[in-house]
Amino acid sequence: MYDYEKVDCINCGDCSRRCKMGLDPEKLLDLYNLFLDGKEEYVRKEIAKLPEEQRPDRCFGCGSCQFFCPKQVEIWKTLGRFAKLLKE
Ligand code: SF4
Ligand code: SF4
Repeated sequence: MYDYEKVDCINCGDCSRRCKMGLDPEKLLDLYNLFLDGKEEYVRKEIAKLPEEQRPDRCFGCGSCQFFCPKQVEIWKTLGRFAKLLKE
């Protein structure tokens, strides 16, 4: 099991509309939650389908996606954790 907690995302999509790097944090955070639910194999396959530039490790932590998040999700920190988990 992992020490991380799932994120409380309500899928408003605001973060994905703001990311200038073309990432889709909303989708990535859904996958992160599924990963923590034990669906690792499925999640790894879904990540592998994404172009490399849209994977969690391509978030450079600018933070512009999370300023308006209605749930104050720590998006870039979570994507960093997710990238780390995927490398294990
Ligand atoms: S802005 Fe926040 S609540 Fe909305 S999709 Fe992104 S992480 Fe989820
Ligand atoms: S913190 Fe990451 S996901 Fe958020 S806008 Fe910046 S590059 Fe995109």
